Amino acid sequence: MNRPIYNLSAALLLSCATFAIAQNTAAFNLIPLANGVSAAIDNPAAKADSSGSNAAFIIGPDSVAVVDTFENPTAAQKLLDAIHSQTKLPVRFVINTHYHLDHVAGNQVFATAGAIGLAHQNVSTWEHTENLKFFGPRITPQQRNFVETLGLPQLTYTHDTTVFLGDHRPILLRVMPGHTGGDTIVYDSTANVVICGDLFWNHTLPNLIDATTDQWIATINTLLADYPTATFVPGHGEHTGTAADLRDFRDYLVFLRASISAAQATGLQGQPLVDAVLPQLKAKYGTWAFFDLAQPDILRTDEELRGVKKIPHPEVSTH
Ligand SMILES: [Zn+2]
Repeated sequence: MNRPIYNLSAALLLSCATFAIAQNTAAFNLIPLANGVSAAIDNPAAKADSSGSNAAFIIGPDSVAVVDTFENPTAAQKLLDAIHSQTKLPVRFVINTHYHLDHVAGNQVFATAGAIGLAHQNVSTWEHTENLKFFGPRITPQQRNFVETLGLPQLTYTHDTTVFLGDHRPILLRVMPGHTGGDTIVYDSTANVVICGDLFWNHTLPNLIDATTDQWIATINTLLADYPTATFVPGHGEHTGTAADLRDFRDYLVFLRASISAAQATGLQGQPLVDAVLPQLKAKYGTWAFFDLAQPDILRTDEELRGVKKIPHPEVSTH
């Protein structure tokens, strides 16, 4: 079997600012940021062996925190191996930014290694149910089993939470709306890095399946106001970003809503509305990654603006 070999040696890490090999078929590329923080950026060239999303880890004075666990356990194991090649400190925490399966599929790898899984309560509520929809109505028994056995977080929260990787190394888990209704960004003030999960897609069209775009735009404005000089790690997209990149992404959501509203105001709906808006998106955003999401983005935002979009809701507690 022609599987790529992910051979991340400590020597290579020490000698390279950015991990790259001549024919790069690694599941992800490690990008060292500041103060023990590294982004693990998906490598689409690895095709089926790619990590499927971005993740990150923070090496603190006493322990390590991992943020998101990719689309498959194999890539997650490679991330754990990469961390072990850099530090002997325990991987104590694994944080999921949201429930989507391309960010949680490696949870069990870290749990087995002794990490405590942390996430918003809605991640726990939706992980084994809402993820089924990504396989459509013809989901196979194996796919259903894959979703229903995904590793769940061990500790959940509904409000902002601080985790310490040492007495003086706080990591803020900040609950923010827009992408699913159960999203967390991770802010490391020491490194001035915001790990955004899917609240930020860097020059990449987003998946809006569960989105509430007006709240999402407000969330991005809050991030820009609170962390104007930070490095932003996106959930998808080939590079880490600055505030300017985050603004570009916010402006996509603003433009999408405005162009759909204008088309709705002329009485358009359904395919004619898509036909009117798609060329406008193509002209402005045709070079962005995942442009094939433009049509579903239009349809989902059309539904949202008409007030008929179905989005996941948390279970009502009976306690
Ligand atoms: Zn997502």
